[in-house]
Amino acid sequence: MKVIEHLARATEPMISFEVIPPKRGGDISSLLEVIDDIAKYKPPYIEITSHAAEVVYDENSGKIKKRIIRKRPGTLGICALIQKKYNIDAVPHILCQGFTREETEDFLIELQYLEIENVLAIRGDENSYKKPVDPGRSINLYALDLVKQMNDMNQGKYLDEALLDAKATDFCIGVAGYPEKHFEAPNIDFDIAYLKKKLDTGAHYVVTQMFFDNKVYFDFVDKCLASGIEAPIIPGLKIATTTKQLTNIPRHFHVDIPNEFAMEMIDAKPEHHLEIGVNWAKKQVEELLNKNVPAVHFYIMQNSKPVTMLMKKLGY
Ligand code: FAD
Repeated sequence: MKVIEHLARATEPMISFEVIPPKRGGDISSLLEVIDDIAKYKPPYIEITSHAAEVVYDENSGKIKKRIIRKRPGTLGICALIQKKYNIDAVPHILCQGFTREETEDFLIELQYLEIENVLAIRGDENSYKKPVDPGRSINLYALDLVKQMNDMNQGKYLDEALLDAKATDFCIGVAGYPEKHFEAPNIDFDIAYLKKKLDTGAHYVVTQMFFDNKVYFDFVDKCLASGIEAPIIPGLKIATTTKQLTNIPRHFHVDIPNEFAMEMIDAKPEHHLEIGVNWAKKQVEELLNKNVPAVHFYIMQNSKPVTMLMKKLGY
């Protein structure tokens, strides 16, 4: 079922989760244990991240060797597994970065055959590797371009214009939103204007970047409403459970961590960090649910322990 249908039918707030594929050569069993853990909460859907190829340099006896490697393949296989084994809808993330539009079209066809009805259209970040584009191939620069491609396929328009009677796909399309603004955007109004364009071009709902202060989410939703956005805006939450994350999260995701939470972590012994992080998330979730958010989405990646603790504290 589509994410927007889940949202429309839900009689209580939905809780969804996001996982990350194992590293290339890694074992799927630990991810399956994570999915076993979260499947108990009967999530309407699980999102699976996608990862572009990057350049890695190995230094050996003074010689530097360049390798191009996609560290975490497997998004499609994990989606199929989640739908078939767990009977939970899978939402693959699909990137502009690292994929041609032709590869994206093929991927969307695979999804359709696997009866995967949901996709999250994401640009991806520039990394050390810029894939050369062969003649006759093309790329999507922004998530907006990717949404347009997906929406075109939903209208039966494929890249090959000579293709007649092509079967229209029927994907439910999600996109990313940034309560604290995307780091490249000159200001929040600019960023929201492009978010609106993604929705006007065919996207159906928004999932936010993680935030640790609910006020930024509520202010963002108000600004989106004022700019004419009516689509559901699903809050994305991460449970921070180490002091390392207090600097890593702002560095990688460009979001603030409230001082009250940061100081509580810094002042506590390491054995208390998990509990402090879970309690902070609990306060966030309770306030969000009290304010009737459509759903709460957890970035759990490959660790279900904090979220399992949280769900217990929340009475699930
Ligand atoms: P876009 O919507 O394209 O926006 C990127 C920037 O460009 C913004 O500043 C926007 O204001 C601006 N902009 C947009 N359109 C235009 C335009 N036409 N002209 C000029 N400026 C424009 N990364 C991964 O690698 N894999 C994942 O699976 C993944 N999943 C994610 C899931 C969520 C919910 C979120 C919030 C992020 C995720 N990311 C993932 C990270 C994401 O790739 C980065 O945040 C990326 O920098 C932006 O992606 P986007 O889809 O928001 O980009």
